[in-house]
Amino acid sequence: MQGKTFFIDLTKCTACRGCQVACKQWKKLPAEETKNWGSFQNPKDLSFNTLKLVRFSEVEENGEFKHWFFFPDQCRHCVHPPCKMVGDMYDDTAILHDPETGAILFTERTRDLDGEEIRTSCPYDIPRWDDTKVQAKCDMCLDRVQNGLLPACVLSCPTGTMHFGDREEMLELAKKRLAEVRAYRPKAVLVDPEDTRVVYLCEETPRKYHGYAMAEADVPGTLSRKRVLAAVASPVRHLFG
Ligand code: SF4
Ligand code: SF4
Repeated sequence: MQGKTFFIDLTKCTACRGCQVACKQWKKLPAEETKNWGSFQNPKDLSFNTLKLVRFSEVEENGEFKHWFFFPDQCRHCVHPPCKMVGDMYDDTAILHDPETGAILFTERTRDLDGEEIRTSCPYDIPRWDDTKVQAKCDMCLDRVQNGLLPACVLSCPTGTMHFGDREEMLELAKKRLAEVRAYRPKAVLVDPEDTRVVYLCEETPRKYHGYAMAEADVPGTLSRKRVLAAVASPVRHLFG
């Protein structure tokens, strides 16, 4: 299973949002009208037109600001993608799995799938859709990668947070950085490194960054990693029975 993988070292992210803007620019996606909702996170959520979003999680203690956790959120390009497993039950050409890179791709045929069902299947709450019901998410900048270029978000990152390359090389880098960070942040973890192609290094428990930062076994209505692995091993395709 080599393929490609992102390594996102959150210890270095300054929330400059270069990656978020670069994604919009490369994909020619329109800006969104936003308003102040009490957070620097802007826009408020992922959407059909915002495939990459830098999330801001503000930590307060005794009513005073203490710390921010920044989380550049995107599709994780799961190794065994639950979205595709569910989509394939209706149309196995709606969501594709690129064999070379491992990228998971939503096609226009996703308009005939149930968006809520696909979104609910995603352990990371990624898929979104527009008025036509076509679903959208990060496609790994496959057009760039197939031409030897980095994904636009990775190229734009000025701090060394975002890395992209061959999977084994990225996993090695992630493990090396984890060992370094653990020397001063003992709770540091890599998020779901065996199951995804977007591996985050968090200084603290991932849920402090974002509620859907990691796949959770007990989130009602979602497909846990345990259930994904069971479904992969089983011919029975009723994942939410
Ligand atoms: S993160 Fe969600 S949308 Fe992306 S491949 Fe995994 S299940 Fe599919
Ligand atoms: S470009 Fe890099 S430093 Fe800036 S928000 Fe994105 S990941 Fe963080």
